[in-house]
Amino acid sequence: MNICMVGTGYVGLVTGTCLADFGMNVVCVDVDEKKIEALQRGHIPIYEPGLEELVARNERAGRLSFSTDLKSAVESSVAIFIAVGTPALPDGSADLTYVRQVAESIAEHANGYKVVVTKSTVPTGTGRMVEEILKGRNGRHEFSVVSNPEFLREGSAVADFLRPDRVVIGTRDERPVAIMKEIYSPLYLIETPFIVTDVESAEMIKYASNGFLSVKISFINEIASLCELVGADVHAVARGMGLDKRIGPKFLHPGPGFGGSCFPKDTQAVADLARRLGERFEIIEAAILANEKTKARMIGKIEKIAGPLEGKTVGVLGISFKPATDDIRESASLRIIGDLQERGAKVRAFDPAAMENARNVLPGVTFARDAYDCAAGCDALVLATEWNEFRALDFGRLEKAMKGRALVDLRNVYDPEEVRALGWAYAGVGRG
Ligand code: NAD
Repeated sequence: MNICMVGTGYVGLVTGTCLADFGMNVVCVDVDEKKIEALQRGHIPIYEPGLEELVARNERAGRLSFSTDLKSAVESSVAIFIAVGTPALPDGSADLTYVRQVAESIAEHANGYKVVVTKSTVPTGTGRMVEEILKGRNGRHEFSVVSNPEFLREGSAVADFLRPDRVVIGTRDERPVAIMKEIYSPLYLIETPFIVTDVESAEMIKYASNGFLSVKISFINEIASLCELVGADVHAVARGMGLDKRIGPKFLHPGPGFGGSCFPKDTQAVADLARRLGERFEIIEAAILANEKTKARMIGKIEKIAGPLEGKTVGVLGISFKPATDDIRESASLRIIGDLQERGAKVRAFDPAAMENARNVLPGVTFARDAYDCAAGCDALVLATEWNEFRALDFGRLEKAMKGRALVDLRNVYDPEEVRALGWAYAGVGRG
C-alpha cells in the first residue's frame, strides 16, 4: 500500500520508516527542503538509536523515499498521515496552523478516496476540523478521517513503535478500519491491543495519557521535596509505592521537572481545552505548577552546596531533556543554565548528542568536548541528564580537572554515601 507521511520530524520520520519496514511503500514529505535533501543524501537529521540503519535498509529496499512534493505524494497514496508539529501558543493552546495547512493541501491534491490520519497530538475536535476542511474544499472525492495518536518516546522511538502497548484508531466510519489494520498488520502477530473507537475518544486518549503521566512525575517530584524536608529517601518511598500493583513502578523517578516536546505542551493544551469548554482541569493545572516549582527549586540545590554563584564556574552534564535524544525542547537543563547565568555563574556544558541544538539557543555557554573537559576549572558539577556515559564517571579524573568537589546529581545516579566518602559535597533529589 502507498502511504504518504507529511512532516518528517521525530514522529514522522520514525513512523514512516517503521511503516516501510512493515512492508508499506512510504514517501515522507516535509516543507523543510534542507531536511529532505539531507535525508536523500542518507543523513539522518535527528539522533535516534537504531533509526539510521532502518532508514538505510528500507531505502535500499525501495520502500522509503523523501520528497518535498506533496502533490504527487498525495496523488499516489491511499493513506496520508499528518505528523507535523503542534506547538503551544502563548496562551497554552495547541497551534494547529500546520495541521490546517496540510489538510488544505490534501484537499487540493486529492484525486480519489483518501484516508487522512492524524498522527500529531491534537486537541479533541481537530479531527472534525480536518474533516470539514477536506469535505468543504473538495466535494469531488471521499475522505475518511482517522485519529491515530502516537505514544513513542524519543530515545527509544523505533523500539516503541515496533512494540507499542496499544494502537489507537479513532474513526467515524468503518471503511478505514480495515486499511489501518492492514498498515499495522505486523503488530497483530505480537498481539498488540487495537483500540478502535470514535475520533474524539482517540484524540482524548493521547491527552489523557500524557496528562496522567505528567501528574505522576509531578507527584513524585513533590514527594521528593517533602522527603528532603522530613529526612526520607524518595527511592525507598517510590519502591514502596510502586510495588503496589494499583500504582506501578514506572514514572516514579524524581528529577529536575519534566521537559521535552510533549508533556509541557500537552498538559497546557488539555488545560486550555478544558477552559475553553468552561471547565478547569484542576489536577493538570496543579501538575504544571508543581513542575514549574520543581524546575525553579533546582538552582537552590546548586547554591546550597556551591555557595553564592556570582563568579563561580559550574559544569552542566546533559542538555537534552532525556538521554538518547538530541531534543532540547523545554529541557530542564535550559532552565538551570539560565538560572545559573542569572546568578552570575559561568557555565560549561556538555551533551553527547544535543550540542548542535544547544549552541543555537544557549548564548554565553562554553561547550565542552566531554564530561572531563566540561569539569575543567569548575566549582561544581551538575548532572542534569542521565546519559549512560555519565553513570560511571571517574571521580579522580574529575578532581584533577575541577577547582571544587561538588556534585549536584539531579537524576540520583550516584550513591550519596559513596560520593561523600570520596570527599565530595553531594546533593541529589529527595534524598533526605
Ligand atoms: P518535529 O518538530 O520534530 O517535526 C515536525 C515536522 O513537520 C518538521 O520537520 C516540519 O518541517 C514539518 N512540517 C511543518 N509544516 C509542514 C507542512 N505544511 N508540510 C510538511 N511538513 C511540515 O515534531 P515531532 O516531535 O515529530 O512532533 C510531531 C507531532 O507528534 C506533534 O503533534 C507531537 O506532539 C506529536 N508527538 C511527538 C512525540 C515525540 O516524542 N516527539 C511523541 C508522540 C507524539
